[in-house]
Amino acid sequence: MASHNINDRALVPVRPILSAKHFRKHDTICDIPSILDSKDFIWLSSARTAIALALKHLGISRGDSVMIPAYHCTAMIEPVVWIGAKPIFFQIQPDTSANIADLDRKIDKSTRAIMAVHYFGFPQNIEEVRRFCDQNNLFLIEDCAHSFFGESNGSAIGTWGDYSVSSTIKFFPSYEGGILASSKQTLDKSHILPSPLAYQFKSLINMLEISIQHNRLKALKPFLKIKDYVWRKVKENQENFHKGLIAPPAAYGSYHFDPFWADKKISFISRKIVQTAAKSRVIAKRRKNFESFLTELSEVRGGVPLFKSLPEKVVPYVFPFYVESPEKVFVAMKNAGIPIIRFGEQLWRGVDFSVCKVSYDYSKKIFQFPCHQDLEEKEVESMIGKIKKILKENSQ
Ligand SMILES: *Cc1c(COP(=O)(O)O)cnc(C)c1O
Repeated sequence: MASHNINDRALVPVRPILSAKHFRKHDTICDIPSILDSKDFIWLSSARTAIALALKHLGISRGDSVMIPAYHCTAMIEPVVWIGAKPIFFQIQPDTSANIADLDRKIDKSTRAIMAVHYFGFPQNIEEVRRFCDQNNLFLIEDCAHSFFGESNGSAIGTWGDYSVSSTIKFFPSYEGGILASSKQTLDKSHILPSPLAYQFKSLINMLEISIQHNRLKALKPFLKIKDYVWRKVKENQENFHKGLIAPPAAYGSYHFDPFWADKKISFISRKIVQTAAKSRVIAKRRKNFESFLTELSEVRGGVPLFKSLPEKVVPYVFPFYVESPEKVFVAMKNAGIPIIRFGEQLWRGVDFSVCKVSYDYSKKIFQFPCHQDLEEKEVESMIGKIKKILKENSQ
């Protein structure tokens, strides 16, 4: 019997959204380090601009090459190309760790740096990559876009790289934001400019608007009318108004790199959102939601969790799930209102199965379901129920 519950159509938020629960007053002691524990860091508008700045600081330019995992998003590549360097793609193993033998085969005289990712929040074989960098006189850029929190081999994530980068929108309800961190040197902040005022306003408004759409901040609804009025005024008064000036591409879901943002700070409000977050709540909720997915989706036909357990001190970005027939179930899941994230869905041109079978396979078959702190229990349950149903219907 088909029953249509109105809640079936409710929007499940794909990203964290602001609510009263967000703030630090709800915090307890947080025993998992984060990128904010690095020796020094700079607040920027996105992880991609942090990558661009890291490359600049390292003096990487035309004629150099940078090793990048074949499983990537194009936002990691564009800054490399922008700086004039050549991206070379190395293989990952099925557990998503870097294939050191492949790195060894592919480096040459032009190689200057290796980028390594802790996929989905699970720390990787970063100590091995660090050792390989040291042996070969290469820099390490540690990409912590999926791992705001965590540690590897007793040291905090973000402390292994010469530079580390992080993306705040993946862990907090900020409209935009990135961090360039280093535990090896202090960072020169003198060239970093504030983001445009109009943008700062937009950042605030968007954050509130998303919360309101999801019914998290009902009391703020009247505020939207005022916002429309003020926003019109800002537009009328700003001569060089255009989209590129108004939001960094990361904020509206684009993977494009816009050099305008390479030397701009995060907006005041987005930084405050990260700084005021109840971090222990973020950690506990993400782990709990991840465990729910793991328990319910470990024994189903049609797919398998990428990671079979959730080790201590891992703070997941999403729940990655390997789907055997993605083309069959993707549309059904989307239509059922399940917000699927697909990291690496679009690989850089030329990166196909001949470069790395695992990456090619994962880019098509790994779906990621949100497990962030602002999902309500019934939203997680409803997603799981729908996923199971769709997988069952498609694996007869
Ligand atoms: C999202 C992402 C980036 C880019 O982050 P932005 O803040 O959107 O620029 C970089 N690396 C990885 C692994 C990512 O998933």
